[in-house]
Amino acid sequence: MIAIVGAGVTGLTTAVCLIESGRAAGDQIIIYARDLPSDAYSTGFASPWAGANWRSVAAHDDPERQQYDRIAYKRFDQMAKTHPHLVMRLPGTEYCKDTEEERHGVWFSTLCPGFRILDQGERPPDCPFAYTYSTFTINVPLYLQWLVDELTTAGVQIIRRHIDRLDSLFDDCDTVINATGLGAKNLRDVRDDTVYPTRGQTILIRAPAVTATTSRVYPDGTTYVIPRTDGQVIIGGCYQPHRWDLDIDFELAEQILERCYALDPSIATPPGSGKENIQIVRHNVGLRPSRQNGSRLEQERRGPKTIIHAYGISSAGYQASWGLAASVLRLMQQ
Ligand SMILES: Cc1cc2nc3c(=O)[nH]c(=O)nc-3n(C[C@H](O)[C@H](O)[C@H](O)COP(=O)(O)OP(=O)(O)OC[C@H]3O[C@@H](n4cnc5c(N)ncnc54)[C@H](O)[C@@H]3O)c2cc1C
Repeated sequence: MIAIVGAGVTGLTTAVCLIESGRAAGDQIIIYARDLPSDAYSTGFASPWAGANWRSVAAHDDPERQQYDRIAYKRFDQMAKTHPHLVMRLPGTEYCKDTEEERHGVWFSTLCPGFRILDQGERPPDCPFAYTYSTFTINVPLYLQWLVDELTTAGVQIIRRHIDRLDSLFDDCDTVINATGLGAKNLRDVRDDTVYPTRGQTILIRAPAVTATTSRVYPDGTTYVIPRTDGQVIIGGCYQPHRWDLDIDFELAEQILERCYALDPSIATPPGSGKENIQIVRHNVGLRPSRQNGSRLEQERRGPKTIIHAYGISSAGYQASWGLAASVLRLMQQ
């Protein structure tokens, strides 16, 4: 038996990959998690709160992270055709704050069709570098439920349970996959103190006229507009490391509305009619599972048993998901 601890996008996608690869049958996998995708408003995990778009944040000199994102991009390309209610292909535009990406080149310029650097006249005067490309957004609530449905149909048991120690599962399982995100901090046989939250605040709005995902990097954070397949749009945001507080900061919410309207006036209904005409559905706060020195993907042997750690993916859990899961499987074969 293989146990997966965690039912966020990392744990669920890994389980789907185990089955698709033939590495395990559904009834050989058991998922334990404190929070489940049906807990759509649980702040106990990150996955319900993502935008989510594919906009790689892998560094120019990090081929491993680039590979995660490349694999997921290709999977989303298929899914946009087979599951258009979950994954949508659309134009993306990125307005950068400095020319770092220009200096090193944008690593995914050859991966994403339609990649083009914008001319000076196509970007705001105080924006030194910008580009457009073809990318994807994910309808997060439907997508998580789809992963769960795929797994339960295949016979995977998904059980709500808080796990205190990973080795408490060794009686029934030879391999335990640790996909606990921020939870890795408190597991008694992991205690990873380098894990920390990065607070993100967003607003879910109704704005069916939005047809592109757009972001702009400011010195104090990134502003973004991420439409979903159902006419709803996530606008945000902020990136606040080491912050556990979950209350809505309404001053920040006002800044999000202002900056996002400047970025894409079609977030108002009717489009361009002023930021007071943005139809707010709800304000959100979520905590990204960050980790000093980046995510942990590592095999740990404990006697005859194996633990695979796969946590700390911070702001890239969806766009890295299929590639990260493929790497978990590779580690299991070693
Ligand atoms: C505002 C915001 C916007 C984002 N936008 C994007 C985006 O556009 N694109 C993108 O790719 N990503 C985005 N992300 C990041 C993405 O949401 C995360 O990277 C991803 O959800 C992490 O998934 P995970 O499965 O690793 O962790 P989580 O979703 O945190 O799941 C952890 C799981 O482990 C369980 N768990 C923890 N401890 C225990 C325990 N002791 N016992 C049992 N179960 C336990 C939890 O209950 C949960 O089921 C965003 C995040 C936020 C907050």
